[in-house]
Amino acid sequence: MSEQTRAACVMGWPVGHSRSPLIHGHWIERHGVAGAYGREAVRPEEFAEFLEGLAGRGYVGGNVTLPHKEAALALTEPDERARAIGAANTIWLDGGRLRSTNTDAPGFVDNLDTAAPGWDKGLEHAVVLGAGGAARGIVYGILERGIERITVANRTHARAQALRDHYGPKIQPVQWDGLPHALGEAGLLVNATSLGMAGQPALELDLAPLPSHGVVADAVYAPLMTPLLKDAERRGLRIADGLGMLLHQAVPGFELWFGVRPKVTAELRALVARDLGERPSEATRK
Ligand code: NAP
Repeated sequence: MSEQTRAACVMGWPVGHSRSPLIHGHWIERHGVAGAYGREAVRPEEFAEFLEGLAGRGYVGGNVTLPHKEAALALTEPDERARAIGAANTIWLDGGRLRSTNTDAPGFVDNLDTAAPGWDKGLEHAVVLGAGGAARGIVYGILERGIERITVANRTHARAQALRDHYGPKIQPVQWDGLPHALGEAGLLVNATSLGMAGQPALELDLAPLPSHGVVADAVYAPLMTPLLKDAERRGLRIADGLGMLLHQAVPGFELWFGVRPKVTAELRALVARDLGERPSEATRK
């Protein structure tokens, strides 16, 4: 590596499944950046030491994935967004300071802006399924856009209630069987559970109550077209897929480490979709 080369990496345990090297490697090549992006398998008990030695290992920052996102928050100087979400997924060295943010929230809304422009115009009520890590970021992104009411349904109801405790009264937890009523008033439905993911049970939900202007988004990206998204498309609803969220959430990190704001292109979508085992027709559909 030359002295000018800047390097970043994804840190996780395990980390083999991460598509971040593919995404950032593509942008490094396309933008002709003197950069490198690596993969670091870091055990939980070694994460603090790894971060302390980040600069010494030649890194200017990186992505943090499971199970380190909460530890990254505690071990860095988080921005307001990461602090509010309670997890950091992107870190960078700023002089001697190790700073962090969470890019799931902007990644989610940027993808919606691309896939369903104007989705938030006049939107008063959204429904989010799930209350795990993805849901926390997504709910924060929707709140940042000024949406006044978010109904949250989760298998473990106490976790939906915990989201209300965390984010305040704009979050309204409901039991799963209260969903048909909530959907009738919603302009946006988001699946932030792992239901519908390859190897997981399907998400069984009747979309009939959703208004015709409703938008349906899925955080799941394998498969790319989840049964939920297929059903929404059949009904003529606009959709935003999990791959778009995954690609858009990578943009801010690349800009922080390498100084260039990259674009989410059809070429990149096709590259990552192919890696996920998708057919090209599915990959380039947007
Ligand atoms: P997580 O923290 O483990 O949360 C999993 C969520 O799914 C919880 O709400 C859980 O409910 C629910 N769930 C799991 N199995 C279920 C079942 N059999 N029936 C009903 N609900 C079930 O995981 P996560 O990090 O939030 O990830 C959720 C999904 O989002 C995954 O598919 C992940 O790949 C995807 N994701 C995508 C992106 C992206 O950029 N596109 C980013 C992050 C995550 P309980 O609370 O009841 O367990």
